[in-house]
Amino acid sequence: MVPEKTPIVSPFLPELRRYNDLVSDIFNSGWITNGGPLVQELEQRLALYLKVKNLVCVSSGTVALQLIYKALGLQGQAITTPFSFVATSSSLKWQGIEPVFCDIDNATFNLNPDILTFDQMNKAIVATHVYGNPAGTQGLEKFAEKNAVPLIFDAAHAFGVDYHGSSILSRGTASALSFHATKLFHCIEGGAVATNDDALADEVRALRNFGIKEGQLSKLIGINAKMSEFHAGMGLCVLDEISFILEKRQELWSLYREKLEGYVSFQKWSTSSQNNNSYAPVVFGSEELLFSVKLALEKRNIETKRYFWPSLDSWYPSESSELRVSEDIASRVLCLPLFPGLETKKVISITEQIKQSVEQHNG
Ligand SMILES: *Cc1c(COP(=O)(O)O)cnc(C)c1O
Repeated sequence: MVPEKTPIVSPFLPELRRYNDLVSDIFNSGWITNGGPLVQELEQRLALYLKVKNLVCVSSGTVALQLIYKALGLQGQAITTPFSFVATSSSLKWQGIEPVFCDIDNATFNLNPDILTFDQMNKAIVATHVYGNPAGTQGLEKFAEKNAVPLIFDAAHAFGVDYHGSSILSRGTASALSFHATKLFHCIEGGAVATNDDALADEVRALRNFGIKEGQLSKLIGINAKMSEFHAGMGLCVLDEISFILEKRQELWSLYREKLEGYVSFQKWSTSSQNNNSYAPVVFGSEELLFSVKLALEKRNIETKRYFWPSLDSWYPSESSELRVSEDIASRVLCLPLFPGLETKKVISITEQIKQSVEQHNG
């Protein structure tokens, strides 16, 4: 008998009663979108919780990136990482900006600040905090400052991550968050721009609403990237449960690591930060071994995901230098199931299966 499916991720759902209460409020007020009270409340609570000066909620993480590029008037090329979700690069392409890939560090999986090179066509740096791990922030800041270009973070994985005691979202020019259903914190669909720059935040607020500023249409070419009240309501319910979500993830990912020590390798996390346990990535000795583990788990109806794979340079060939580390890590990394409802005994059985496959493979 095939066991019940274990998905890679199962979106966190709050108590229905709590969400229904908010939906009743929305029905009673009739205010269903256009910066209603729940979006305002969510923005305030998230800014406090995430310790950022400005937090602007939008309709997705991808559009959050696009609004940042647009607000900064970026054109030309941007230095970015090939080891990320496709949206990091496709959002640039969508804005007519060419991604120029630089290789990653083989321990942190983040852009390697030591090998960055700069030319006059590069107008920005777009770095991802991979699996939430702070992206070599000090090195990138120095590089961005020296070359006088903005530093933008794809912080889709970095909800609640601190770095040197303050929010990782307070670093760089601006950060984009994703609140998609599969993320640690979610609004079903949604995202946000976080920035310390008040003027930039105002620009993003106008751009998400057709370019309308203080009730007046401005010269800005905007778009509709607003979050609805129903999405904000889900976010408020999930935020109420965030301590439970974080604790549960911490417990499960620690258990994975303890059981798999010596069988796989792990991403090296920044020593100035704590893991938010947003993903469960493990790296195998070879792609061949990854395939056999993936297959063995599939036979037991356990879903895993090659994330990120492939290295983005295979989608968007560019003049980039060699990207050997990104291609190598992308070929050997596998994300395991991780979500608050996952049972401890399931984690143990997954790790036992992996150990068995590794032992068989190593003969
Ligand atoms: C999820 C994700 C995005 C896109 O966010 P959406 O809200 O789905 O648009 C962008 N970058 C990274 C690294 C992601 O994981």
